[in-house]
Amino acid sequence: TLSRATHEMSEQNSELTRKLEESSSEINELRTHLESIRTESLTDSLTGIANRKQFDNMLRFRIQESRSLNYPFSLAICDIDHFKGFNDAWGHQTGDQVIRFVAATLDRLALKDHLVARYGGEEFVIIMPRVTINDAIPTLERMRRAIEVKKLKRKSTGDCLGNVTISMGVTELLKSDSSSTFIRRADEHLYAAKRSGRNRVVSDHPARSAA
Ligand code: GH3
Ligand code: MG
Ligand code: MG
Repeated sequence: TLSRATHEMSEQNSELTRKLEESSSEINELRTHLESIRTESLTDSLTGIANRKQFDNMLRFRIQESRSLNYPFSLAICDIDHFKGFNDAWGHQTGDQVIRFVAATLDRLALKDHLVARYGGEEFVIIMPRVTINDAIPTLERMRRAIEVKKLKRKSTGDCLGNVTISMGVTELLKSDSSSTFIRRADEHLYAAKRSGRNRVVSDHPARSAA
């Protein structure tokens, strides 16, 4: 009897071990799956850069950080110039390629802990933590210039598409700001850049904004 009981227990034991291993591998699979869904939910599917949701989360975090550690914090909004005309001339798919190119250029030239996100259609935002407005401008000018000089080609046919330009508004966080007044001010500067001729960066200090 004792021998049979021991044998049974040992079988139950190995069955339990097997089930435990199975559950733990299932948990690992679920964890990986969850991680990829989380990444996906924060990524813009056309460009592969951060989406609006990730921008909203990061903006909240960086505002708190800047307040508690007394760091400067700059925010830029960019919009492709006359993009409706580009789409009308070359088609929506080619327009999509240009949106991808602009996103990749901004992302490549952004500093390490900055966040470039697609804010909407042909608009992008750049979160620039620990950066004063005067330090933000040269980085943004490099981005604007890199886009302006690129001779675009249609991938499928090699047709020359000319150039596109972007306009930007940039502002530094004020003590009195909420996230919406912060964004609104960057947006107002963007519209000032549009009104004053496009393909330029407008900031809180008009004198320093180069055409
Ligand atoms: P402005 O210089 O004043 O910004 O002029 P605009 O023509 O760029 O501005 P408008 O807001 O009139 O047009 C934006 C265009 O962007 C219209 C829309 O067709 C295009 N657009 C928005 N999202 C996408 C997208 O995902 N793909 C493509 N191909 N086009 C898009
Ligand atoms: Mg727009
Ligand atoms: Mg536009």
